[in-house]
Amino acid sequence: MSASAFDAIPQRVTVVEVGPRDGLQNEHGALATADKIHFINLLSAAGFAVIEATSFVSPKAIPQLADASEVLAGIARRPSTRYTALVPNVRGMERALAANISEVAVFTGASESFVQHNIHTSIAGSLANFQPVITMARSAGLRVRGYISTAFGCPYEGTVAPAAVARVATQLLDLGVDELSIGDTIGVATPRAVVDVTRTLLAQVAIDRIAMHFHDTRGTALANVLAALQLGISTFDSAAGGLGGCPYAPGASGNLATEDLLYLLHGMGIVTGVSLEAVIEASRFLAGVRGMTPASRYYAAATASG
Ligand code: MG
Repeated sequence: MSASAFDAIPQRVTVVEVGPRDGLQNEHGALATADKIHFINLLSAAGFAVIEATSFVSPKAIPQLADASEVLAGIARRPSTRYTALVPNVRGMERALAANISEVAVFTGASESFVQHNIHTSIAGSLANFQPVITMARSAGLRVRGYISTAFGCPYEGTVAPAAVARVATQLLDLGVDELSIGDTIGVATPRAVVDVTRTLLAQVAIDRIAMHFHDTRGTALANVLAALQLGISTFDSAAGGLGGCPYAPGASGNLATEDLLYLLHGMGIVTGVSLEAVIEASRFLAGVRGMTPASRYYAAATASG
């Protein structure tokens, strides 16, 4: 392989830590509010520029995150970290604004059946619901992130066309979304699909508006990160300790572990501003509270004894 294979790779990458929201939302068992707060404080200490802290969804829909306001009131905010929350509707946005959030995220998908199953409306319906949310966020001066789930495959429809991802992407940008997070919700992507989807998006979307959200369900997440890096993508989502199982493959991994992502990036000389050792500390704390072993290869290697 020639050195030019890495020529387009960014020197600096933003890692969006999604463990407290995307991770905990998909884990079984409730976590005490104080433990969530301590976990986020440890992640803040690690130096993330962005931490997705919680979700202002209906407590009836996702009881694990019913304490969103208490969590945001309890954390020690690091001035250079943006604390974001998922917001599905105007009611959630009102709660998010009262909680002094620094950025909001909305969630839809590239596959009609997935969106219907997951948020009980069509893709067009989800976008219509976001319109007032995004208007409220922008008039409060808040940045808005838009999740496009099932961008590489759908549990109901199978393959998803890159053009379908690009269509939702441009619709979200037209609504005023600042950044798109392109999600491999069921963890089926391989590098060629990443290149296909990314190139299709880049024909219509500026590169600095695209983040990639890979799941390691089938062990391809880091290969997919490398493929995206080679196209110049410089924002990636991950969860400390690989928090968040895959709801479509029980027992399997979901979110790419932040530790594994950081090891790859730092090893390639890419600057993230995040301390890998401090992320290990956050995962170690949470693993202790939950009595679970984190789903991170790097964590396992770093904490092995003997
Ligand atoms: Mg995820």
